[in-house]
Amino acid sequence: MPNYTAPLDDMLFLFEKLRDNKNYNELEKYNEVNSDLVKDILGEAAKISENLILPLALSGDENPAKLENGVVRTPPGYKEAYNKYIEDGWISLSCDPKYGGQGMPKTVSAFFDEMLSSASLSFKLYSELTIGAYNCLLRHAPDEMKDKYLPKMVEGKWSGTMCLTEPVCGTDLGMLKTKAVEQKDGTFKISGQKIFITSGDHDLTENIIHLVIARASDSPSGTKGISLFLVPKYIVNEDGSIGPRNGVSTGSVEHKMGIKGSATCVLNFDEAVGYMIGPKNKGLNQMFTMMNLERIVVGIQGLGISEIAYQNSLSYAKERKQGKTNNSKSTNGADFIIEHADIRRSLLNMKSIIEGERALCFWLSQQTEVSLYHSDEKVKQEASDYVSLMTPVVKSLFTDLAMEITSDAMQIHGGYGFTKDQGIEQLYRDNRITPIYEGTNSVQAADLVFRKLINKNGDIINKFVETIKSESDSKNDKVKIFSKELNYYVDILSKFSDWIKDRHLNDKDDVSAAANDYLKTLGFVSLAYAWIKVLEVSFEDYDSNKKFYEDKINTAKFFFEKVLPRAEFHYKSAISGSSNIMNFKFN
Ligand SMILES: Cc1cc2nc3c(=O)[nH]c(=O)nc-3n(C[C@H](O)[C@H](O)[C@H](O)COP(=O)(O)OP(=O)(O)OC[C@H]3O[C@@H](n4cnc5c(N)ncnc54)[C@H](O)[C@@H]3O)c2cc1C
Repeated sequence: MPNYTAPLDDMLFLFEKLRDNKNYNELEKYNEVNSDLVKDILGEAAKISENLILPLALSGDENPAKLENGVVRTPPGYKEAYNKYIEDGWISLSCDPKYGGQGMPKTVSAFFDEMLSSASLSFKLYSELTIGAYNCLLRHAPDEMKDKYLPKMVEGKWSGTMCLTEPVCGTDLGMLKTKAVEQKDGTFKISGQKIFITSGDHDLTENIIHLVIARASDSPSGTKGISLFLVPKYIVNEDGSIGPRNGVSTGSVEHKMGIKGSATCVLNFDEAVGYMIGPKNKGLNQMFTMMNLERIVVGIQGLGISEIAYQNSLSYAKERKQGKTNNSKSTNGADFIIEHADIRRSLLNMKSIIEGERALCFWLSQQTEVSLYHSDEKVKQEASDYVSLMTPVVKSLFTDLAMEITSDAMQIHGGYGFTKDQGIEQLYRDNRITPIYEGTNSVQAADLVFRKLINKNGDIINKFVETIKSESDSKNDKVKIFSKELNYYVDILSKFSDWIKDRHLNDKDDVSAAANDYLKTLGFVSLAYAWIKVLEVSFEDYDSNKKFYEDKINTAKFFFEKVLPRAEFHYKSAISGSSNIMNFKFN
């Protein structure tokens, strides 16, 4: 089983030194969330992740969730751990105190999301979708509905799901077939089949609150006719107690390559009672509240899995002896593999990406809070634009890089990485879903290019470029060396944006074929922007903690020399266009 120690030093460094966003610091709501409090919370969060949740990773992999006599059973140990987890209030960390939550900002809860993802993604998913459903209801449900359902969800006694996918529709939700027939009392009868539903059924909670998209009888076809419904597993009585079973049953639990402890279910809705949330035919917009927040969390899943893969690769490389290095001092035995240049390169590649991602995520968490709670509409809108720009980037880039990192981790472990001995292959398998669910990474790239670049006429990206340029224009000569390098790639990003806009007028296939590359160029530039923020503090505060900052500076150096150039590769690859791709005859 892999070991894991939560990277508290790095997390606390970010919280203490990089809360540099003046708009975020203006949010009165979080005045009391200071470094001491956060240190305590993250310290406890680390303990629960390392001691309670980490052992569940192996248990879930060896004893997948299963359907037994109509009941979905979670793996051994999950129930006890879940009860302790909700008893200690962890599920409610970021929820509104009005419904029993602890009201912590994303700048804190995102760190906990990362720790849980490192410890056991399968276990995490049982509460993750509850928080997703909570967020959707909080923003779109009427007050009576919120009062009836949210407190129990925040307490963790009831869980939540997101029911979109059907056998014939995954990416293209406009094709959905699930029907909603309105009843005289204003409720709906929901009928249809949903597949691949995470935590669709399980034995951890008393009730499950499904958020289901369906088409009302008089609604138009396509995405314009989709509405959102709350469909509980058990009907909830007026007084909040649990009533009769609703018409939702579990057809099967999927057998999967990874995240085996997570119950991925086929759900059959047979005239199940559903309650419409928000206006008719606007269901997809409401579901996007849940999906957008979830997409960032999926990016964080990639980050968390990358972190545990890196930690174990590092310790293995320090223990395993093979071969001699060019400058070996060893007279009889072999050197530790950490002495080999290629292993060192691989480890630094992981480390520089992971720490850059964590810093970028921290910046994004601040933007998210500003986009939700700032009093100035203009400030709020700008933050909201940045969140929408970065959502597909974080989801896609972090999860794709987590595939690279978990694969490299296996490589560092050699044959022992491929066998089950070290648990490294499980990280690779568990991560493989992250580029697929919550909208595949290709769909994220299309969203970035068509909706966030072209539809906005490049305004958001231009603003972001201006922000990067002005904020990286450092007074410190040592930072300037890095900023100059970054500016070179920012100019490439701008040229790439112009190229995309131009090609959109002439050949849309060029744009579609370039979307993934564009996302990567923007992603690597964004990581470098986050690294500049880290460098600014590292040089300024250098004397206060030399060892820590020396490490940061040298890791950043690796990132700028060895990783950031990928931004240019993606640009060059993309601008060769799509004619060969589209004209190629597949036999
Ligand atoms: C373990 C697991 C958990 C899941 N959890 C949930 C859940 O809780 N709730 C839920 O509703 N769903 C869930 N899903 C479903 C998941 O979100 C979908 O599988 C995913 O969105 C892709 O849909 P699909 O499988 O139908 O693939 P398809 O949509 O058929 O896509 C197949 C391929 O075509 C590509 N493609 C499709 N359209 C385009 C396009 N326009 N342009 C370019 N490429 C395109 C895709 O990128 C993909 O590579 C889960 C799936 C799994 C496996």
